[in-house]
Amino acid sequence: MNPLFNISFSDAQLAWREKAHEIAVKYLLPNALKHDKDSSFNEEAFQAAADASMLGVWIPKEYGGSGDGILALALMVEEFSKADPAFGVAFAVNALGSIPIIVGGTEEQKAKYLPRVAAGKAACAFALSEKFAGSDAGGLSVRAIKDGDTWTIRGEKKWTTNGSRANIITCFAVTDPESRSRRISAFIVEDTDPGFSIKKLEDKMGIRSVPVCETVFDGVQVGDDRLIGGTPGLGFKHSMMTLDLARPGVAAQAVGTAAGALELATVYAGRRKQFGQAISGFQMIQSMLADMAQQTEAARWLVYATAAQADAGHKGVTKIAAMAKCFATDVAVKVATDAVQIFGGYGFMEDYPIAKYYRDAKILQIYEGTNQVQRMVIARNLIKESGDLDYYNQVIPTETQESFGAEPVTANV
Ligand SMILES: Cc1cc2nc3c(=O)[nH]c(=O)nc-3n(C[C@H](O)[C@H](O)[C@H](O)COP(=O)(O)OP(=O)(O)OC[C@H]3O[C@@H](n4cnc5c(N)ncnc54)[C@H](O)[C@@H]3O)c2cc1C
Repeated sequence: MNPLFNISFSDAQLAWREKAHEIAVKYLLPNALKHDKDSSFNEEAFQAAADASMLGVWIPKEYGGSGDGILALALMVEEFSKADPAFGVAFAVNALGSIPIIVGGTEEQKAKYLPRVAAGKAACAFALSEKFAGSDAGGLSVRAIKDGDTWTIRGEKKWTTNGSRANIITCFAVTDPESRSRRISAFIVEDTDPGFSIKKLEDKMGIRSVPVCETVFDGVQVGDDRLIGGTPGLGFKHSMMTLDLARPGVAAQAVGTAAGALELATVYAGRRKQFGQAISGFQMIQSMLADMAQQTEAARWLVYATAAQADAGHKGVTKIAAMAKCFATDVAVKVATDAVQIFGGYGFMEDYPIAKYYRDAKILQIYEGTNQVQRMVIARNLIKESGDLDYYNQVIPTETQESFGAEPVTANV
């Protein structure tokens, strides 16, 4: 039986949500289109979030955070993303880039880096993907070679979100090419390390205000103190543990994207008049709004349940995290598409806000593991768990077939 657990919201978590809503309405909503057009980052909103200590919510108290967990992170990312999904991901990637240190770092690494992140003094990035290694994250080619006490990291990473703003970059590199299970290690690279640079700022369909970069590690030299966990070969494990905890964040970005698009479409439908009445009076528009609302609400509670499970340290979080990511991001694309439909021709215009939600939504189905990969993860876990469902065999008949002396027929049911 699937374990049941409580979802409850602490006063602190609800206060983070409220504060995120204030920042969203004051700094994000009025400026989202401008930053999208210029591909410029909303530094003012980030500073407001840093001043409000929001970059420490997922960081344990002993390392300068508030220890309010992944659920608080999800609530904040949802609010930010309602107003500007691009800011939602820029914020969430600070968690993605720092969680490897939380789950795998040594005491010294946690004490050195996490308080800087929590104080909003160091932005983070997560550099796993490469040009030829996306879904197949195990197939990396960036190399880290040890000589004496020094590791030298060489190679390029593709699509590093926050790359040009980050001070701490978690970089995954091959340290043992012969090993199947312990091939990869994770390193903490600082933006000031000689050899680290930005090669290209990507020109994107959506989430245009967050910088996504090709990052270069041209002979970056670091000591063992930068090898996450201090032992080589744990990088793949750390990356998978990190993605389990970070996926509620990207799923929350999707819920926020859907919720923002739904709210905009509802307000617009009440304002827009055709045939002498507000279009919100037409049953077909009402039916679309009702479906959009149901899908968004279902995604929201799946995300909260996942975040609560992640905070509870539940072992089986991988499957539900994949479900939340896949379901919520599919919902965001569907809801944003329908919201454009409700805006009609104006929905297609870039001076109206809704086209941006449509463009911003698409990437959600691709990054932090494509939705095909999430479905693979879900199905694999389901099939594995079905080993515990032997009691169903009592109601599934076993067929037999006579061969009458010919080749015996093998049962396949
Ligand atoms: C804007 C943006 C920001 C990003 N940010 C980051 C970041 O901060 N850090 C980072 O490390 N990466 C980041 N990424 C990379 C992202 O995670 C990858 O793009 C994603 O994992 C998919 O990899 P790929 O693009 O190489 O696609 P591919 O792996 O080449 O996949 C192409 C298609 O094949 C499908 N496919 C692949 N394998 C299978 C399979 N086994 N079964 C069925 N279908 C399959 C995929 O689902 C997809 O539809 C970002 C990407 C983008 C575009």
